[in-house]
Amino acid sequence: MRRVAVLGATGSIGTSALDVIARHPDRLRACVLAAGSNVAALLELCRRHRPEHAVIDDAAGFAALRDGLLDAGLSTQAHCGGEALDALVSGDACDTVVAAIVGAAGLSSTLAAATAGKRLLLANKESLVLAGELLMQAAHAGGATIVPIDSEHNAIFQCLPDAHAHAGLKRILLTASGGPFRGRRRDDLTQVTPEQAVAHPKWSMGPKISVDSATLMNKGLEVIEAHHLFGVDGDRIQVLVHPQSLVHSLVEFVDGSTLAQLGLPDMRTALAVGFGWPERIASGVAGLDMLAHGRLDFEPPDLDAFPCLRLAFEALSAGGTAPAVLNAANEVAVSAFLQRRIGFLAIPALVEDTLAALPSTPATSLAVLRDADAQARRIAAQAVGACA
Ligand code: NAD
Ligand code: MG
Repeated sequence: MRRVAVLGATGSIGTSALDVIARHPDRLRACVLAAGSNVAALLELCRRHRPEHAVIDDAAGFAALRDGLLDAGLSTQAHCGGEALDALVSGDACDTVVAAIVGAAGLSSTLAAATAGKRLLLANKESLVLAGELLMQAAHAGGATIVPIDSEHNAIFQCLPDAHAHAGLKRILLTASGGPFRGRRRDDLTQVTPEQAVAHPKWSMGPKISVDSATLMNKGLEVIEAHHLFGVDGDRIQVLVHPQSLVHSLVEFVDGSTLAQLGLPDMRTALAVGFGWPERIASGVAGLDMLAHGRLDFEPPDLDAFPCLRLAFEALSAGGTAPAVLNAANEVAVSAFLQRRIGFLAIPALVEDTLAALPSTPATSLAVLRDADAQARRIAAQAVGACA
């Protein structure tokens, strides 16, 4: 029996993870559920999944969570805050952690799971972008198994089952749907709204990653993620826009073979791989009907209309604190865009200006990276204030 902690339980990935868990009562159990601030949604999940522990990040929600659990007659223990979450993730309450908190807020609990040697189903890509080397080192030292829960990286993981395959890897072909604005030129993007940006044509996801998909920053973050997970530099990662979102990524080997993983765009497949690996377990996702889909198209990304992808490649090659700065400035910019304080094209502009203001320094410790993150947030927030 896997005892699972679902971090970000009320979100899009959390919901999919709990759906897969509920399909396998004989082998998976949700023991810890954690969310940011939505107490009502967390309580509802506790009624359904009866975990041993529930954690709300926002201290203001603690009393309502505790009282709601009592009123529902549940023995689930209520907790609040990041320290309580890290302790639960590190301890005996779970052996498997679904890291699906959005943004740099997920770093501490993700690192705790890696350090404690858990099976880590890693959706929180921002923690890899911010502190990828430290996170991979912690996982290695702690004996953690990381299964990436980003559809592309999960595809690559499936195509690279062992060290022999890894040794023969030539390059990675990372697919991108292109987002809701695929095919538009830069000039056509000045007036787009948050509603248009989050209306993803293929995937149903949380608001932040949906905007990242619209700017192609999501693909940029994923390039950096792939670098850390698979030890491949940026010049061996090619991004391909693939609008059908059926080929989740490909790997090319030195012998000329290319392997791909295909499937419907539904994150439950990746999560089932994470829970079951190396076994295969049912996810609730149907197989692909290739005749019904008919064709697979591929095209190059438009870096003029979507400069965030270029900025991410540049930050990866600069190394050090640059990816942390890129990520932090992007989080501030996306949040401001969702609040209608800045326009869509201000997102890449703000990220680029923040990177220019904070030249990369060596990422010698977590403290250095957290400081770069904080400085970038300050500079980006000032720039948002100046835009508004
Ligand atoms: P979401 O916005 O739907 O959910 C985010 C979750 O994080 C919520 O449960 C929220 O309560 C929780 N949360 C936020 N701040 C928190 C904090 N400080 N402490 C504890 N919990 C907190 O987001 P999502 O789409 O599920 O994405 C989650 C992560 O997975 C992101 O890093 C995203 O990039 C990654 N991811 C998502 C998808 C997808 O299909 N949705 C695909 C690949 C990767
Ligand atoms: Mg992805």
